Amino acid sequence: RSARGNRHRVPRIGIMGGTFDPIHNGHLVAASEVAWVYDLDEVVFVPTGRPVFKLDKAVTNAEDRYLMTVIATASNPQFTVSRVDIDRPGVTYTIDTLRDIHAARPDAELFFITGADAVAEIMRWKDADEMWGLAHFVAVSRPGYSPDLQTLDVPARAVDMLEIPALAISSTDVRRRSRDGEPVWYLVPDGVVQYISKHGLYH
Ligand code: ATP
Ligand code: MG
Repeated sequence: RSARGNRHRVPRIGIMGGTFDPIHNGHLVAASEVAWVYDLDEVVFVPTGRPVFKLDKAVTNAEDRYLMTVIATASNPQFTVSRVDIDRPGVTYTIDTLRDIHAARPDAELFFITGADAVAEIMRWKDADEMWGLAHFVAVSRPGYSPDLQTLDVPARAVDMLEIPALAISSTDVRRRSRDGEPVWYLVPDGVVQYISKHGLYH
């Protein structure tokens, strides 16, 4: 932790990509924990445009997902939200996210944060080879998923695994609960509960 408090070092920026339909406390704990362990200066939340792995599913419009992400992260001075993916036309690929954030912050060292389920998809990602050069990858633990990095064709040291406090929360379950009239309090931030009800999402 020698770098902590050194204002002259290279900025360390986390990138938390997701559909965020809606953002929930599992996402926020993942970002907060990686920020702490990796001594990050900032975590940029990047809501996806059209997620490539969810093309067959209906996804809430990008503006609602973006606003819920802003509401959820507003109180944390280290958290910011980027529109790069929702403003880029077409399907979202992580390589484009990394290129855009790198172009915006060429001075920074980037840390891409994913859950243990998403890391299993990494090798299917477009231009995976180029991604290793643009960012470190941190795969956080997620209840119900135990990826074996040995079986993935990932270059040595390209992906770190990090154990974080387990929150068995998914956006899929939050949507189902909302639809069925079950409470979502304390699974998502208060402002997100209120946004969902105010705009009648997930009915
Ligand atoms: P959905 O059920 O719609 O797929 P989700 O809960 O998986 O939603 P995403 O927006 O798909 O949320 O996930 C964004 C990123 O956050 C992914 O890398 C995912 O693995 C990670 N993530 C989501 N929920 C958790 C959780 N409870 N613990 C750790 N990581 C998580
Ligand atoms: Mg998911």
